[in-house]
Amino acid sequence: MIEFGYSIQSNRQIDFDRNTRQVYKYIRRKEPSIDWCMSCGTCASGCTAGYASDFSLRRMILLARRGEEKEIRDGIFRCRLCGKCLNACPRGVNTRNIIYWMQQAVKNTQTL
Ligand code: SF4
Ligand code: SF4
Repeated sequence: MIEFGYSIQSNRQIDFDRNTRQVYKYIRRKEPSIDWCMSCGTCASGCTAGYASDFSLRRMILLARRGEEKEIRDGIFRCRLCGKCLNACPRGVNTRNIIYWMQQAVKNTQTL
């Protein structure tokens, strides 16, 4: 097979008619500061869980906004809830609370 320097990616379209974004809406009710996140990535730069894995809170919030909840389920429990990101966020987002409620949303889907 000839390599042209690129490859075909899997389909990344998001169907917003089927995608309810339940996790995002649930967290927003519990911790409205999630809306202040500007995806700067500062929280991910010193993240304890990020040292040992590809975990990133920035990515988790983006996934929640997009409603990609399977990916959240696969990743959110890597967070150690250490709270370092709480001091790092320039927007004052209550990051630890967001992670806590994201974990609760995933654990307890009937509350969504
Ligand atoms: S609370 Fe979680 S996301 Fe924040 S720095 Fe600690 S391990 Fe990383
Ligand atoms: S540091 Fe704050 S604003 Fe930046 S990505 Fe993390 S939560 Fe969002």
